[in-house]
Amino acid sequence: MKLQTRIPTLRRSPTVLIAGGAGFIGSHLCDSLLQHGNAVICLDNLFTGSIDNIRPLLNHPNFRFIEHDVQEEIEIDGEIDRIYSLACPASPRHYQKDPVGTMKTCVLGTINLLELAHRKGARVLQASTSEVYGDPEVHPQPESYLGNVNPIGPRACYDEGKRAAETLMFDYNRTRGTEIKVARIFNTYGPRMLENDGRVVSNFIVQALRGEPITIYGGGTQTRSFCFVDDLVRGLQLLMESSSSVTGPCNLGNPHEVTIEAIAREVLTYTDSASPLRFEPLPKDDPKRRKPVIDTAMRLLGWRPRVALKDGLQATIAYFAMRIAGEPPTLVP
Ligand code: NAD
Ligand code: UDP
Repeated sequence: MKLQTRIPTLRRSPTVLIAGGAGFIGSHLCDSLLQHGNAVICLDNLFTGSIDNIRPLLNHPNFRFIEHDVQEEIEIDGEIDRIYSLACPASPRHYQKDPVGTMKTCVLGTINLLELAHRKGARVLQASTSEVYGDPEVHPQPESYLGNVNPIGPRACYDEGKRAAETLMFDYNRTRGTEIKVARIFNTYGPRMLENDGRVVSNFIVQALRGEPITIYGGGTQTRSFCFVDDLVRGLQLLMESSSSVTGPCNLGNPHEVTIEAIAREVLTYTDSASPLRFEPLPKDDPKRRKPVIDTAMRLLGWRPRVALKDGLQATIAYFAMRIAGEPPTLVP
């Protein structure tokens, strides 16, 4: 009888490129993908990202950092299986600083990452945004809502840039068969937001911890729905690994809707701060309300957020308290 020997094929670890991997969400994604046994290439120009966010990973054998601007063509040796396209400033303060640069990052950056994906045969996930719905006239927002964006306002470089990035994703899918996933991310918060980020959760926490006035823009009656970063990162990974027929767009966010004044009051309670509220003018085109319909994510990915606002805020407060005290943040390798 002939002896059949089967030599096991050694499967290399999947290699994942995270453009924008040194940023707030990207650095949590780097951690999680490394923990799940992937090789991770983090590509970032450090515009709003920071080496501090990824410092504990720099000596990891499966981690590589490349400083690069996605507006320029991207050449990387070796195989790449997955590409997360997160490179783009997300806070209005930062994306409005160089609006033409923001638009170029969204458009040229997405093209460069899609071209790389095409050469490598990789699957791409685009971090799109609830901002594609603009100041929504439909509430809550399902993926089928086409949005109400002012194309000439101060937020347009980001909103229209992200809309163009979605268009590019679907055009590469239709014309070249690129495997795509489009996630529409709603307001996300958590440790590793920048102290000077300008977004509401980090602003309020830093102001409360320093005993400075809490700056509420407008009357504070506008709403947002805040998702803790761990929930969001899990959703991104589930979407990336979903069946190839799933392209999105797929809303990822927490449907728990709160007013901005309510967030201010919660932060004051958890920080035990006596900071006063200071009402300031509402920025132009600031959306009045925002809440995701997450039926698609629940049905296709079995995903829903798990972290309650109170717990997420307390974890974020603990992080900023350490940073303000000058202690290095403890990061999970
Ligand atoms: P972030 O600003 O912390 O991270 C963005 C990262 O991209 C930074 O590390 C930055 O240095 C890098 N980057 C910016 N321009 C680049 C360029 N031209 N080339 C290379 N790197 C560049 O923001 P974040 O909150 O982590 O957001 C990550 C992604 O998720 C962004 O694409 C953002 O639009 C999207 N998003 C975030 C939220 C949110 O609430 N955080 C909501 C919707 C969508
Ligand atoms: N906001 C505020 N005070 C701040 C920062 C933001 O009242 O110090 C408001 C802002 O006007 C908006 C909401 O909080 O209505 C969320 O703002 P953020 O910049 O965090 O996100 P986005 O507007 O992009 O959803």
